[in-house]
Amino acid sequence: MFDCILIHYGELGLKGLNRPFFEKKLIENIGKALKNVEYQKIRKVQGRIILELNEKSNVEKIEESLKKIFGIAWFAPCKTTEASSIDKIKELVRKNFPIAAGTKARVSTNRADKTLPYTSMEVNRELGAYLVKQFKAKISLGEPETTIFVEIVEGKAYVFDRKIKGLYGLPSGVSGKVLHLLSGGIDSPVAAWLLMKRGCEVDFLHFHAFERFNEAKLAKILDLAKVLTQYSLKARVFFVPFYPFEAEAVEAPSRYRLVLFRRFMVKVAEEIARKHGINALGSGENLAQVSSQTLENMAVISKATTIPILRPLLTYEKNEIVQLAKQIGTFEISVRPYKDCCSIFMAKHPTTKANLEIVESIERRLNLKDAIRECHEEIEIISLE
Ligand code: ATP
Ligand code: MG
Repeated sequence: MFDCILIHYGELGLKGLNRPFFEKKLIENIGKALKNVEYQKIRKVQGRIILELNEKSNVEKIEESLKKIFGIAWFAPCKTTEASSIDKIKELVRKNFPIAAGTKARVSTNRADKTLPYTSMEVNRELGAYLVKQFKAKISLGEPETTIFVEIVEGKAYVFDRKIKGLYGLPSGVSGKVLHLLSGGIDSPVAAWLLMKRGCEVDFLHFHAFERFNEAKLAKILDLAKVLTQYSLKARVFFVPFYPFEAEAVEAPSRYRLVLFRRFMVKVAEEIARKHGINALGSGENLAQVSSQTLENMAVISKATTIPILRPLLTYEKNEIVQLAKQIGTFEISVRPYKDCCSIFMAKHPTTKANLEIVESIERRLNLKDAIRECHEEIEIISLE
């Protein structure tokens, strides 16, 4: 029955940004997200986006996709009519939005088109009276069971009875590119999602503990990346082996291996980032969640590179992270068993207060340059869209 979907984007966060660029990206992202579903066209009107449907459109499927697009505040499947008179709107409501007798109802009108010969208050009042007469509804402004929404834009009335909440945030791609360190754990996928939410285009780097790249063995990481790509619409996953580091780090004191590995990851990541025009690294680190994630250790890790490392989960509680992981759809995958790089090789009690001079003097004794080069030679890249 619906002929279009009305899409509103969050405007508050827009001040500093280039608005037309934001809108263009959002429309482009909606188009990409809907590449496998039927619709007529997407267009912009007066600060809104209208997705015109056709007879073959599957509204449920479209709703599922739009719920994953950053930058959408809310959206609503609508029925539309010419807005030249309130009678036309009444007629549309009578045919398409019948209300059961006795239902507490309300009309909420938003008039962006100021050229019409009536005000939004008049629509609320007249249409409200009509609901009472036509359907025996009861008007309740405070606690309605049903709300009939009317939006009047460029001579047309868009009528709907359901607003579907979007994710807010900024459209993927408006804030630059990040190379995100993705593990098989719960945190780093959530951290990547938060970066996407602020408009970052996110590629992934994963260090795996297998002898060579093996898609079947790395299915968990790819599955995580695929879920995240539903939100960001495209991503590359860089797979790099852990063993070149391991082979060198056996010479290092075991308490330091974790910090050494983090620094190593960051150095490998930095080179990939530079090569691919990426401006920042991302990580799922969280302050004091595990004993090794201290300010001292993070400072020493950050000193391994000149590119900023973004840590969006820094201050989150574990239960908040788990809740987000469930909402995003990564939790079930994150808890699947996986051969982790760190479990056996790292010390049970890694240092909590790494000292930069000590770390650098250990690094000087190891041949990390060759290990980094080997990692680069072994890179496997998978592109997802
Ligand atoms: P996560 O749940 O994301 O693994 P965590 O709390 O288990 O986080 P660590 O295992 O200490 O924390 O890892 C800290 C961060 O280092 C991760 O969030 C991730 O960004 C990065 N990281 C850890 N292991 C890898 C890996 N094998 N490949 C790429 N990045 C990794
Ligand atoms: Mg982990």
